[in-house]
Amino acid sequence: MTAVNLLDFDLDGLADFCAQLGEKRFRAVQLMRWIHQRGEADFERMSDLAKSLRGKLAGVAEVRALPVISEQRSADGTVKWLFDVGAGNAVEAVFIPEDDRGTLCVSSQAGCAVGCRFCSTGHQGFSRNLTTGEILAQLWFAEHSLRRAGAGRGGPDPRVITNVVMMGMGEPLQNYAALLPALRVMLDDHAYGLSRRRLTVSTSGVVPMMDRLRDELPVALAVSLHAPDDALRDQLVPINRKYPLAELLAACQRYLERAPRDFITFEYCMLDGVNDTPAHARALLALVSAQGPVGRVPCKFNLIPFNPFPKSGLRRSSAERVQAFAQILIDGGVVTTLRKTRGDDIDAACGQLAGEVQDRTRVHERLVRMPLPAAARSRPDAIGGGHEGG
Ligand code: SF4
Repeated sequence: MTAVNLLDFDLDGLADFCAQLGEKRFRAVQLMRWIHQRGEADFERMSDLAKSLRGKLAGVAEVRALPVISEQRSADGTVKWLFDVGAGNAVEAVFIPEDDRGTLCVSSQAGCAVGCRFCSTGHQGFSRNLTTGEILAQLWFAEHSLRRAGAGRGGPDPRVITNVVMMGMGEPLQNYAALLPALRVMLDDHAYGLSRRRLTVSTSGVVPMMDRLRDELPVALAVSLHAPDDALRDQLVPINRKYPLAELLAACQRYLERAPRDFITFEYCMLDGVNDTPAHARALLALVSAQGPVGRVPCKFNLIPFNPFPKSGLRRSSAERVQAFAQILIDGGVVTTLRKTRGDDIDAACGQLAGEVQDRTRVHERLVRMPLPAAARSRPDAIGGGHEGG
């Protein structure tokens, strides 16, 4: 019998599991704290759990870490992990440290079905949804391995990761059932205790699920826009054919009624000669203005440098082009940021490393033993161990 992975549960799920073992809800709180706050995976070390419960758990449950295929550290502090999710598939998580925060970019699917033109992950096609446990295992591993490496910021709060963006590989809203409990754990004060403002879901525009997220767990929202009109967006972000811009923007306005922030972040990947002209910038301003298809949409733009990858046929916009584009948006009164390229010395385009892993021969080439959290090391099968622009 396969042991139940406790990383698959939010607090209610953990409480249900404890109830099946004849245990009270407060045991679920204890377990949550041990696993997520303290990074413990060995039930024997959970010292305030009754011995009888530890015994019960040992037979039926585990905290199942994802094997780590590789860990790359950039000179600027960025860390990128490649996790093995089986059957030749791998997913990436990236930690980006800044002065006032530590952000982890997390994957939600192996591959992606949306197929954005500029995205390495999209070019690989879709393999499968990650489970809740596989989504959370990325955060669990990153937080606790960074802590052990001394990446904390001092003070009483030991947390290294202060922000999570669901912006790695995959379209999170096409894996909603697994995503929701994972978000709950990220927000739970017994686990990672993130605020809803510091937890961002990035979507290519799955309109019905944007509405569900709004109703069920409104966290910060980023939308991969990448084009100011339907004709171009149909080509760059194919889901636009199903949910065109007017529907998407209307969903953004509905979302804002409950969002923890009073704006939507629009991601815009700058592609040389494709979507980066002054005319595109002016069209973008018009799109979100009071004269746009749904009226004014409170927003900010995040301009992203394109990460070239083989066979994309696309080029990164020049710095001058990006500056000129940004200036038009800023002059139009919309807050606009340029995403810094981080970890350039370790980085292939998001999703590119995972794409290589799909070639099984290369899996074996890449598979190296990496340190795991102390408790996870005891597991016999433990080998050490994007939503590109979206
Ligand atoms: S940008 Fe995001 S939604 Fe589009 S293909 Fe890549 S991972 Fe999927």
